[in-house]
Amino acid sequence: MAITADAEKAVLDSVPRDLFIAGEWRPASGSGTLAVEDPSTAEQITEVADATADDARAAMDAAASVRDDWAKHPPRERGEILRRAFERIMQRQDELALLMTLEMGKPLAESRAEVAYAAEFFRWFAEEAVRLDGRFSTAPNGQGRLITMRQPVGPCYLITPWNFPMAMGTRKIGPAVAAGCTMIFKPASKTPLSALALTEILEQSGLPAGVLNVVTSSSSSDVSEPILSDPRLRKLSFTGSTEVGRKLLEQSAHGVLRTSMELGGNAPFLVFGDADVDAAVQGAVIAKMRNIGEACTAANRFHVAEKLADEFTEKLARKLSGMRVGRGTDEGVEVGPLIDDKQRSKVSELVQDATAQGASVVVGGMDRDGRGYFYEPTVLADVPAGARVLDEEIFGPVAPVATFDDEDEAVAAANATEFGLVAYVYTRDINRAFRVCERLETGMVGLNQGIVSNPSAPFGGVKASGIGREGGREGISEYLETKYVAMAL
Ligand code: NAP
Repeated sequence: MAITADAEKAVLDSVPRDLFIAGEWRPASGSGTLAVEDPSTAEQITEVADATADDARAAMDAAASVRDDWAKHPPRERGEILRRAFERIMQRQDELALLMTLEMGKPLAESRAEVAYAAEFFRWFAEEAVRLDGRFSTAPNGQGRLITMRQPVGPCYLITPWNFPMAMGTRKIGPAVAAGCTMIFKPASKTPLSALALTEILEQSGLPAGVLNVVTSSSSSDVSEPILSDPRLRKLSFTGSTEVGRKLLEQSAHGVLRTSMELGGNAPFLVFGDADVDAAVQGAVIAKMRNIGEACTAANRFHVAEKLADEFTEKLARKLSGMRVGRGTDEGVEVGPLIDDKQRSKVSELVQDATAQGASVVVGGMDRDGRGYFYEPTVLADVPAGARVLDEEIFGPVAPVATFDDEDEAVAAANATEFGLVAYVYTRDINRAFRVCERLETGMVGLNQGIVSNPSAPFGGVKASGIGREGGREGISEYLETKYVAMAL
């Protein structure tokens, strides 16, 4: 069913636009506002409070003041708040999806999927909240007892990117709430609306005042500095680019903060000579085109066995050229706009560099004229080593295909990057599958599947793709300290 302008207005009007500090919705201290744009029209759709450094200090004060009370809150109740929030999100799935599409651009079906994915983190961590345990053992010399307990880290600062406006928030807020940590949440300036709607849901689900404080701001460094330099802060959890992650790690060094870093990727997608080509193409479409290619897990480069390369490239090009590009609210649209003009120019530059170096454009390769930041789904063949499109994170709907002769060459090409988030492997040979999975320098592998994200699995990277894991049994450990008690007996 077509989405009307009235429906869009209603959903935009329903979202709080203030900061949320110490359980109160309030305007920014300087009364400033931050404009939010629809990337499919390049027009402003609303504005939200633009926090200052003073607001950030107030948020830090609030998170610090309730830290002890919240840590003592019964785990079952912490879990039930998350469970209620999970249910409320799912009840409002359509409206939250529309909000997400309006501020970020992804097609409605993908926004609905993200809302469900986001909610699942709350359901998962609601269940984890009551499973926090410790250990008890006899010292090897028999003289004493060793006891370990796990306690909340303390106040956390959570920073998220624009590409998954809700799920990147729940992936941090869920385990922090479950573990008993208080927090300050700074969503990306381009997509504050999903984060504000989520905050209101948590408030309505019974989260006590001060546990979650939200600052939306046009100046992320100005609001982050007073928080990161405050000795009461104990942890930073960041999802975003490696470049900003490096800066934040430097800033975290002074306070020796616990850090979780979910950074950039450059995922290789390997198709071996024994692979099922049709399955590989199907996986490739998901790995490349999910979120318009604007995912840290997006397949960035396709390395295909020489003998399958023509067939794979042709079939992939056919699929991508059949995908409908347009405004995410329009029916049947599968590819929305990129987030802004800067991102579109970068994608365009990478394609031009590749063709200048000898790659050929099989399909696409152009900006779309008119309103919004659209770029056509693109397949590039015969991409030579050294082309920037193979080395840099594309963050757009462009699939460069290169070839390899043998397994060693494929693994070497896959690992020839500073990044190490995820790799995709297509093969029907079980021995090869294990060999290659073990040799890949990544935190995750999609084996004969083009998507790895799952709230009950540990998500994260190695090398310049980050530190730590989110989701799964590992996710809550990022928000817990282990205390050891040596007991004489
Ligand atoms: P970004 O530019 O690094 O921004 C991420 C967040 O950091 C935003 O909230 C941003 O605020 C904030 N920020 C920027 N500079 C800052 C500073 N000096 N101090 C404090 N905060 C600062 O990344 P992005 O463009 O939003 O997102 C795309 C990147 O995220 C890609 O590299 C992608 O791979 C990565 N990502 C990784 C994962 C993962 O799980 N590994 C998941 C999703 C995305 P503003 O919005 O105000 O700039």
